[in-house]
Amino acid sequence: MEWSAVIVAAGASSRAGAGPRKPWRRLGGRAVARWSLDALSAAGAGRVVLVVAPEDEALAAEVAGSPETCAVVIGGATRAQSVRAGLAALSDAPAASAVLVHDAARPFVAERHVRALLDALEHADGAVPALPVSDTLKRANATGETSTAAREGLNRAQTPQAFRLGALRDAYAAWEPGDGEPTDDAQVVERAGGSVVLAPGDPMLMKLTYPEDFTMAEALARSASVTRVGHGFDAHRFGPGDHVTLCGVRIPHGQALIGHSDADAGLHALTDALLGAIGDGDIGEHFPASDSRWRDADSAVFLADAMARVQARGGAVVNVDVTLICEQPRLSPYRQAMRERLSALLDLPLDAVSVKATTTEQMGFTGRREGLAAQALAVVQLPA
Ligand code: MG
Repeated sequence: MEWSAVIVAAGASSRAGAGPRKPWRRLGGRAVARWSLDALSAAGAGRVVLVVAPEDEALAAEVAGSPETCAVVIGGATRAQSVRAGLAALSDAPAASAVLVHDAARPFVAERHVRALLDALEHADGAVPALPVSDTLKRANATGETSTAAREGLNRAQTPQAFRLGALRDAYAAWEPGDGEPTDDAQVVERAGGSVVLAPGDPMLMKLTYPEDFTMAEALARSASVTRVGHGFDAHRFGPGDHVTLCGVRIPHGQALIGHSDADAGLHALTDALLGAIGDGDIGEHFPASDSRWRDADSAVFLADAMARVQARGGAVVNVDVTLICEQPRLSPYRQAMRERLSALLDLPLDAVSVKATTTEQMGFTGRREGLAAQALAVVQLPA
């Protein structure tokens, strides 16, 4: 069944403590919203719409990446207004297609959840993942005296919730202001007389609400992913010139590095480290020297390609460590600039980016100043 996804990320995050709003906090090296975006795209969403608060638009565009895979839309003051804004962005999608409406604060949605919902949708206007209530329910009166409420038939509704797009659109159009604020989308369809069925819920669909939820989510993120390490090595020969480029930074020098591209051994080693972490060949295979397109190329292009390959697997770079090996030029004055450049290229915090420089005590080809070498390590998290 053809389906789209609306990810709602415009909430106030008022109970989540200090720091950025929930969708933009990091979890296992990725923004919280990115987890759902990657999972729903990988599960086969034709289109994904990310609905965000106006002040988060720039941040969201960065997290969302290419507008072809994810459209960023500005939401409203309430969840319902944000869902309406998301649905409006799908106005040209067929009414018979499906839409999954999901809260960005539930990062661990997986393809199996999507399949179960789309199967359940075969016989209903809406399908909701739900978990039976297992705790005993207590009602407390004004003086704190308790009574016990029956829990039979009660379920906790989660997201994503799946709907016939036409049914959800019509239901929101029919929702009156006097009906109050819906807390999920299924109740809007229920109110309009549509049929909603339950699909199996999952503790993994937990919602991040309080600061302590993030602690648990970090542990789950680790269990939901595997850590891979990749290594890269590169060397280039010195030749005539007046500067070298290392880790994307131009460094004045009495010689240049000779190579087909800009001969940035730091970025080449790092690119190979990323490719190594995901078992996807090497830089020479993806960017052969025989291809004239890469003549004098900015090696940031190679790194961006390796990053895209990591992201296409739903992965994230956790940290990188580059060692540059040469007698000359002196690199320590440029170390910080190189870290900052890599931090920008990899979208990593500065403390996850290391650039080190060493010599070989005048031994070997770097010691004889014939050339320069670089080694790199990259740590990558991939979905388990
Ligand atoms: Mg090279």
